Amino acid sequence: MAAADLGAGPTRIIFLGPPGAGKGTQAERLAQWMGVPRISTGDMLREHIAQGTPLGRQASPHMDQGGLVPDQLLIEMIRERTSREDCQRGYILDGFPRTVPQAESLASLTPRGAADFTIFDLVVPREELLRRLDGRKRSDDTGTVVQRRLQEYHDRTEPLIQFFERHARFHRVDGFRDMELVQRELRGHVGVTA
Ligand code: AMP
Repeated sequence: MAAADLGAGPTRIIFLGPPGAGKGTQAERLAQWMGVPRISTGDMLREHIAQGTPLGRQASPHMDQGGLVPDQLLIEMIRERTSREDCQRGYILDGFPRTVPQAESLASLTPRGAADFTIFDLVVPREELLRRLDGRKRSDDTGTVVQRRLQEYHDRTEPLIQFFERHARFHRVDGFRDMELVQRELRGHVGVTA
């Protein structure tokens, strides 16, 4: 399919939605279509751990237990990443922000704050999330760790829905459908809002 015509300003997109909702897959495909980077904070942190950096060493115990890595570490990482050249036409965030302080910091990086973002909240029933995560076999996709990650989402990330509903272009998208249909809907929203 032809690449997106994104118009003049940068298109900045945030994927909300719990672990297992399909954020990574959908964000990656949308990023390729738009020709902008997908920025996954989970992937960046795993890379730090693999390379044994100081940030990786700080993040690792939190990730192993399904908890969130402290805000300050994430905020600095994203500030640096989004300031790079390849983000000038926009970017897609997958897994950030996950807390209200992260969202507030992100909003402070762009001229019009939260209004500069398009948000996709991918909605998938809990039983389906558990089924998907069970089949994924990542080291943090096991029993109690999954429960903790879902709980963290509920407690700390869901409040972002209210934060963004008021200030940004917010779209709730049914993620419990064929992948292609979900992607098509996302592209439709980007075409309109870009
Ligand atoms: P993910 O690959 O997005 O599921 O992230 C895997 C893990 O990385 C999460 O369970 C957290 O421990 C950590 N992580 C990723 N993004 C963030 C974030 N924005 N804030 C805090 N922790 C994060």
